[in-house]
This record gives sequence, C-alpha cells and structure tokens, in this order.
Amino acid sequence: MKYISTRGNAPAKTFTEILLGGLAPDGGLYLPETYPQVTRAELDAWRALSYADLAYAVLSKFATDIPAADLKAIISKTYTAEVYCNGRADSDATQITPLRTLEPGVHILELSNGPTLAFKDMAMQLLGNLFEYALAKDHAELNILGATSGDTGSAAEYAMRGKKGIRVFMLSPNGKMSAFQRAQMYSLQDPNIFNIAINGMFDDAQDLVKAVSNDHAYKAAHKIGTVNSINWGRVSAQIVYYFKGYFAATQSNDEQVAFSVPSGNFGNICAGHIARMMGLPIGQLILATNENDVLDEFFRTGIYRPRGTKHTYQTSSPSMDISKASNFERFVFDLVGRDGAQVREFWAKVDAGAASDEAAFDIKGTAYWNELPKFDFASGKSLHFDRLKTIRELWQEYGVMIDPHTADGLKVGLEQRRPGLPLICLETALPAKFEETLVEALGRTPERPAALEGIEALPQHVEVMDADVVKLKAFISANT
Ligand SMILES: *Cc1c(COP(=O)(O)O)cnc(C)c1O
Repeated sequence: MKYISTRGNAPAKTFTEILLGGLAPDGGLYLPETYPQVTRAELDAWRALSYADLAYAVLSKFATDIPAADLKAIISKTYTAEVYCNGRADSDATQITPLRTLEPGVHILELSNGPTLAFKDMAMQLLGNLFEYALAKDHAELNILGATSGDTGSAAEYAMRGKKGIRVFMLSPNGKMSAFQRAQMYSLQDPNIFNIAINGMFDDAQDLVKAVSNDHAYKAAHKIGTVNSINWGRVSAQIVYYFKGYFAATQSNDEQVAFSVPSGNFGNICAGHIARMMGLPIGQLILATNENDVLDEFFRTGIYRPRGTKHTYQTSSPSMDISKASNFERFVFDLVGRDGAQVREFWAKVDAGAASDEAAFDIKGTAYWNELPKFDFASGKSLHFDRLKTIRELWQEYGVMIDPHTADGLKVGLEQRRPGLPLICLETALPAKFEETLVEALGRTPERPAALEGIEALPQHVEVMDADVVKLKAFISANT
C-alpha cells in the first residue's frame, strides 16, 4: 500500500515512511492510493473479534510494510484492559470501547477509558508504540512538535513519556484549557516532555507547527515529527472503533447505522468516512460542531470559510474550538474525485485570504455540490445552552453523565439522524475532564478516577511564549 498527497505533487510513500512525518512536501496530507475494500466474508468474520484482533485485521490493510508478527505484537501490547480501564467503574474494560445503550437504537460508544480520559488515547497509545518500534529499528531520534486545544497534547505526552529517542514539544493556547487539562499536561515531570503555552488561540499554535514543518531544512536538522491530527497513523487507528461500534450496535451486516461525531479538526469523522469507503455499512455520518461552526456551514452551504483568531470562540467544549479543520482536506480530496490540482486551487484561496479573515472557497454551483449528498453527511451545531440541557436530560433520564463534547454530538445526532437508523454517538471525553461545566449543568462534580485526584495541586512545568516562530525554533534548538 502506497500513500499519496492530497495536493498531488509529492512522491508516493509507504506507511512507515509517512509515520514519523507530518505534511507531505507539497503541503498536502497523505491518504492511501486507493482504500482497501472489506468483503462481506471479512465483515462476517470480524464481527466476533476482540478489539486487538479487529485492530490488527483493519490496520494490516494499511501498514503493509510492517512485518505481520511485529504489527500484531505492537497492537496486542497497545489495546489491553490495563491501558483502557481508567474510566467509569461500570465500563467493561475488556471491550476497550464498550457500547452503552441509552434506549433501543440510541447508543454511546465509550472511547475515553484510556489514560487521559479522552478518545485521543485510542490512536495515540498505538502511535507511541509504533514510533518506538520504528525508531529502534533505525537507531534514530525524533522530536515531536504538536499543537493542542487540550486533549491531543496530554494524550501525546502520556503515550510518549519515557520513550527512548523521543522528545515532545507541545504547544497549547495559554489559559484556554480547563484547569484539569492544564494539570494533566503541565504536571508531567518527565525530562523528554516540554510544554509550551502560546499567547493566542489553538489556531495560532497550529500555525506555528505548520511554519516549522514547512521549513524543510530546520525540520530535517532537528528531526521534527508530528502527532497532531493530520498524522495518518492516528487516522488509521481511529478507523477501528467505527467497525467495533457498528458490530456492537447491530445484529447483522445487513443493517446500517448512523454515527454522530463531535468534531473540530475533522480527524475523528474522517476515520468514519474512510471506514465507510472501505465498505462498512454506515448510513449517515453526522458532524456536530459547537459555536465554532465552520464545518457545519460547509455541509449546509458549500462554503468553507475558516475564521481567524478573532472569530474563534472560547466555549465550554474547548477541544472543538477550532476553525481550520486540518483533516478536512482529506475529505475534500475524495469529494473532488482525488484531483490534486483542484485541492491546490481551493487551498490557495484559503491561504490567500487568511490574513484578511476572508479565506474561503465555495462549491455551491459546481459539480462537487451535486456529489456531496452521495457521501451522506449531515451536520448541525450545539451551543452552550444545548450542551447543558443535553447533559441534564441524560442525567435525569438515564442516570448517565456525559462530557460537554459528547453532549454536542448527541444533541446534533438526535436532531439529524434519519428515522430508523440506530444512532451511535461517539463519546470523546469523560465528564471528569470538564468539571466546571458539569457543575454548571448538574450542580455536582463528576467522579474522577482515583489516580487523578488532586492533580491540579501538583507543581507545573510550562514555558509561556508569544506566537513567534523564531522564539519557538530557538527553544527547540536549545533543548535538543
Ligand atoms: C479532539 C477532540 C474532539 C475533536 O476531534 P477531531 O478529530 O479534531 O474532529 C472532540 N472532542 C474531544 C473531547 C476531543 O478531545
């Protein structure tokens, strides 16, 4: 299996070759040359597999250049009940991603039982083990540079801490994450972990990562890699739980389901899109945004109009406070029939307008607008008020506590799903990560895993910096 760039101007590469890198040299994102297809016989056989065996079945179609025995060992070591048992006491850890049924046809797929209590652990723990494997093979080193709006950073740090040959430089928007999220990241004292709080929003931090990654000489000299959501290894690992959730919610492979996905960078739902392209019977993919509704606007109007920092709002579902959805380009590549020149043209428009806050392209009135329904996405947005209301209703009706992001997903999912389709809402974090909002909604604090009691009081380890690429490079150079 080879991987090609969404901008059509980069040489094809293998899974291992793109594993440690970020953007393709032409500025695009990597995708498989063609999506592997899952036969009906495979689907039938996969239905009974454990999470780890299912992950191997799916990922061996993508990581074709890793010897089978090695890939199997890496996956078995990753998806264990020990790693994914941090969540609620009643969740069945051996399932890794247990399905919680609220009522017939309405389910929540638990993805947040890993060490940092968010779905990012599903992919990041695998990435940590894949990186260690690849680096050990070449006796190489890697400096991971990433940007986080909250959950990616801690997931990456917990996956990479103490790993040989790896350093992590993680940028986060200064003061914009919850107290718990800050404590989770900044309290790590491992010498290979560097926290950098940027004076700005998440998008400013992400722009800095892009700026460093686009300086090819610096990137090569300092062995810079990335773990943000454009990393193909992460997207591929996320495909697995769409299969797992589908099997758990259905009796046979003749049925269809709808997934609703709380979205920011379009990474999670992109994995769902790919699962469907592989042949998983997903009827509908429902994209939920918060007040930052760039993606909802696209699916409703055909206009993709990323906002600048000034119009990116700080909300009570902060991990979705994103207005440039980096993985969205992967979907658009498929939408335009994999025409790299067309993708280049669209993103030239986005980049040209970035400074004036008028970056946009519009597919309404083009043939692509008529193609869009074939991909069967629905979308909607959920505001602070909706979030609180949904959290309260779930608690009152089912005695279930959900986090603000999952509440956004459930609200929009219930609104948008087609009658008759079972709805699987992806749980993207545990409520314990967002205490303040839970208290506002319910007047009580959510349960927290014992290991994380009192982490806000631990000493914190963070460098505060302006959004300045020169300063960032100097800091990395000084610490490598
Ligand atoms: C990262 C994250 C999201 C958004 O996921 P994307 O892959 O960026 O679309 C939603 N909710 C939570 C809790 C997250 O951590």
